[in-house]
Amino acid sequence: MTRDIPHFLGGSRVHPAGGRVADVYDPSTGAVQAQVPLASRAEVTAAILNAAQAQPEWAATSPQKRARVFMRFLELVHQEMTPLAQLLSSEHGKTLDDARGDILRGLDVIEFCIGAPHLLKGEYSTSAGTGIDVYSMRQPLGLVAGITPFNFPAMIPLWKAGPALASGNAFVLKPSERDPSVPVRLAELFVEAGLPAGVFNVVHGDREAVDTILHDPLIEAVGFVGSTPIAEYIYTTAAANGKRVQCFGGAKNHLIVMPDADLDQAVDALIGSGFGSAGERCMAISVAVPVGEQTADALRDRLAERIRNLVVGHPSDEGSEYGPLVSAAARERVEGLIAEGEAAGATVVADGRGLTVQGYENGFYLGPTMFDHVTTDMSIYREEIFGPVLCMVRADNYEQALALASDNPYGNGVSIFTRDGDVARDFTARVNVGMVGVNVPIPVPIASFTFGGWKRSGFGDLNQHGADGFRFYTKTKTVTSRWPHSAQRDTIAERTPEGASFVMPTSQ
Ligand code: NAD
Repeated sequence: MTRDIPHFLGGSRVHPAGGRVADVYDPSTGAVQAQVPLASRAEVTAAILNAAQAQPEWAATSPQKRARVFMRFLELVHQEMTPLAQLLSSEHGKTLDDARGDILRGLDVIEFCIGAPHLLKGEYSTSAGTGIDVYSMRQPLGLVAGITPFNFPAMIPLWKAGPALASGNAFVLKPSERDPSVPVRLAELFVEAGLPAGVFNVVHGDREAVDTILHDPLIEAVGFVGSTPIAEYIYTTAAANGKRVQCFGGAKNHLIVMPDADLDQAVDALIGSGFGSAGERCMAISVAVPVGEQTADALRDRLAERIRNLVVGHPSDEGSEYGPLVSAAARERVEGLIAEGEAAGATVVADGRGLTVQGYENGFYLGPTMFDHVTTDMSIYREEIFGPVLCMVRADNYEQALALASDNPYGNGVSIFTRDGDVARDFTARVNVGMVGVNVPIPVPIASFTFGGWKRSGFGDLNQHGADGFRFYTKTKTVTSRWPHSAQRDTIAERTPEGASFVMPTSQ
């Protein structure tokens, strides 16, 4: 008997009667564990209308009161951390610790959003002319939507919902249909924390739901995260319909190892960021670029040894370093790319195909795989693999390594390992990639900065979270006001009859 996952509409769990559904798997066993509804056009339209109706009251709530809902929400999520991480892990397949990290990186942005009263402040210029003052204010857009991927089912919905809600918008989330339960619970916890019903609706679905969002005139803005082809489709369709839109896509992240690098640190970085979460992270390092043959040979040998000892297992087992891929189809696709790499002549250093985990023989596991002597024309270099596969592309010198990362069509993240400050400075200034690490493996910026890739990793001109998150979900209104001198000024006191109050004014 499988569970039915509900939509979350108008502050309640809603189980549709009939309609299309999709299976939700437990990737660790390969078994179907639940069914998720795939909303029809009419159901999504109803969810949108419901959210639009709830928005004005939320927008009229002061930013400070909205921030208090966020404070309570933080407490509730922390209280429920373990069951939430278990639920997340059971649908995604990432280890429990990694699932906690997924939730916590989302909460970082919620904490940042508590600064909404400050972040939403406008600007003011007095006496721009005689009796003229000019000021600006940031107002919510109204109703906005988020469409999110499977690989961070807590973090990315929270990156979208946080700034959208804190700015006074209502929010409709269309999460991934592959791991849809945690987003529902997060929206429910927001309501338990005091968010008015209907302000945050979660509607599950596939292309029909997404297209309804992209065409509905009540939706003012769309924030998307997922693969590049879908990012591009959503960007062009939403923009053609006059919506504000930001779309973050796939990646091919390089890690450059200079001859002077601390090799132990570089190996740790490559193993953790290449194979953590089974390589299903948009900031995973999938290409190692050692500079010089000596560096390359030493790096290959050390990586090969570490890979041999990596523990792939059930995501709840303490010792597991990573778990299964999200689906059988995802594993099949990655295995296909591994076969293409082999056929194209790359050197197979480790081959993870055929791995089974004892007791979980039907789970979607894939062992760690590594190729050496990869060239830029191979599909394993050109395509985002999104699995536990590390490709090594040897560079003769620094300029060649820099050009590799810069010329790649993706531009999400990149990292350099070196002890030379001059090289690091030059690299950070010149590399054509949005997020850069120096001696760090996954340069995901903290919540008070912004997150976003360049080139085919990002479409639109504002990043996620940080100040950009608030800019994306608000519009600026600028007021120029003139109050000519009034001869009646001296009589104003007579027209304010409230009298004195001796109580400290508060926002309560
Ligand atoms: P995906 O593109 O398959 O799905 C993302 C969302 O789009 C889901 O909600 C899905 O239901 C919807 N969708 C899928 N196909 C659609 C279609 N034809 N029409 C309309 N909507 C559709 O991505 P995924 O497999 O869930 O996630 C992995 C991808 O996301 C990887 O490419 C990864 O790099 C990327 N990603 C990027 C970032 C970033 O910040 N750049 C972060 C996380 C993940």
